[in-house]
Amino acid sequence: MAGAGNPSSSCPDVVVVGAGIGGASCAYYLRKELPGVTVTVMEAQDRIGGRIHDVTFWGQTVNVGAAAFNAEQRNIAALVKELNLKTHCFKSSGDYPNNYAWDGQEIVRMSAFMADQPAATAQLQHCLKEFLSTMERTYQEYDQGTFSSVSEFLSAGGLECYNLASVSTFFRNMPVSETVQKNAIETMMREFFGQGLESSAVLAMVCVAAIYQDAYKTEGGMSTLVRALINSSRCNLHLNSRVARVQKTGSGKFEVWYSQTGDQTKLKLTADVVIIAAPIEWAGVEFEGFSPAIVQPRRTWEQLFFYVCHVAAKSIRQSYFKTTLPWPSDPLLLAATSKTNLPWTCIRHKGFSNGCNIYSVFSSVDITKDGLIGELFDGVQDFSSNRFDYMHVLSTPASAEGEFQDIKLADGVFYLNGLESVASQMEIAVISGRNVARLVSQESSL
Ligand SMILES: Cc1cc2nc3c(=O)[nH]c(=O)nc-3n(C[C@H](O)[C@H](O)[C@H](O)COP(=O)(O)OP(=O)(O)OC[C@H]3O[C@@H](n4cnc5c(N)ncnc54)[C@H](O)[C@@H]3O)c2cc1C
Repeated sequence: MAGAGNPSSSCPDVVVVGAGIGGASCAYYLRKELPGVTVTVMEAQDRIGGRIHDVTFWGQTVNVGAAAFNAEQRNIAALVKELNLKTHCFKSSGDYPNNYAWDGQEIVRMSAFMADQPAATAQLQHCLKEFLSTMERTYQEYDQGTFSSVSEFLSAGGLECYNLASVSTFFRNMPVSETVQKNAIETMMREFFGQGLESSAVLAMVCVAAIYQDAYKTEGGMSTLVRALINSSRCNLHLNSRVARVQKTGSGKFEVWYSQTGDQTKLKLTADVVIIAAPIEWAGVEFEGFSPAIVQPRRTWEQLFFYVCHVAAKSIRQSYFKTTLPWPSDPLLLAATSKTNLPWTCIRHKGFSNGCNIYSVFSSVDITKDGLIGELFDGVQDFSSNRFDYMHVLSTPASAEGEFQDIKLADGVFYLNGLESVASQMEIAVISGRNVARLVSQESSL
């Protein structure tokens, strides 16, 4: 597999489609595995990061997308260390005292609710212990090695028993009561991952881990990690470049067809290896000259957007909640349960600036346009609204029949995001990025 730009080397020319953390980590690991490789990263947007996006609001860095990781997510933790990024721990283990669930009638303090459920708490902690051992076995298997399918990844340490069960089935068997599932687990899954009890139990266990473990952020937001990965990979980065088609040529190489934002001209790159590092349902890439077996995804692109609004205000307006119960003086997080049917899923307190509280609100409508912002907050001083053209990929097998997308779509073509069927999170994207870099390295040495 000789590189097109460098015929004397055995290193391939690789094109990565997508500059989220999956594509960026893959480019980084490719450079480590194959120092002479030529890597070109194509990104449709005018920025890198994808679902990791930070903005400045009232002098603070606030996240629009992914916010945090925990120490058990050892690949992210290792990358942050390797790249000398500063982190801070913003939540210590077991410390979730200021999180509240709103079910339309009552404001429930999560920690008090869980304290009233000692049997469920013990059961959840037992489940977490088991889950962490399963993860440890999976990590041990793949710290050095590779896997060639999602099923292989799931079976190595025993993760399939979590992935093949929905959250409700899994916890019913434990047993963890429906009240705890609805008031605690589902609320966290909606808040952290935009998903509910129909998702796989892996994601539920990731939420339980998030409740009981320390949580970290990189200074400047998680986008600093993506930037550092791209810079260290020394890749050629093309922003505003949407890939539309990957075509296999007679010589076995690939033509990667793309166009730049605002320009219909079709441009072309040639590559030995192509890596699709974006969910297939969003990427809209066509394949020609080969026919990968793509499982029809369960959600379409049109359903995939939401709003993240940042607000500088005096306080949350209590009267909106029409509750006679004592109002929490210190809510860091107010998460609406699925019972409420509200357009917003959570309000998070992000800090203070210029005498104001800074909040972020996740919602399915633009709360600044439909008047909701005035109903939710008192003393609004400023706001900014971001339409985020992403949504959480469902963490379930790709099809209702339990199939997963292939990692290798054809000789020389790989797909990173099949592993989101296990859990849609940064750690999984990095595991996948490293795995594909190793697969490419193995194949190029044949
Ligand atoms: C609101 C929100 C909060 C989250 N919070 C957390 C969290 O706290 N912790 C955590 O671990 N995970 C979190 N996640 C999940 C995490 O963000 C994702 O799992 C991870 O960022 C996925 O990275 P990726 O590179 O696989 O995909 P993406 O980030 O989606 O990157 C794909 C990239 O490909 C580009 N692209 C798509 N199609 C094309 C094309 N045809 N040509 C060129 N480029 C293309 C896109 O523009 C995008 O930049 C959160 C997700 C969301 C949405």
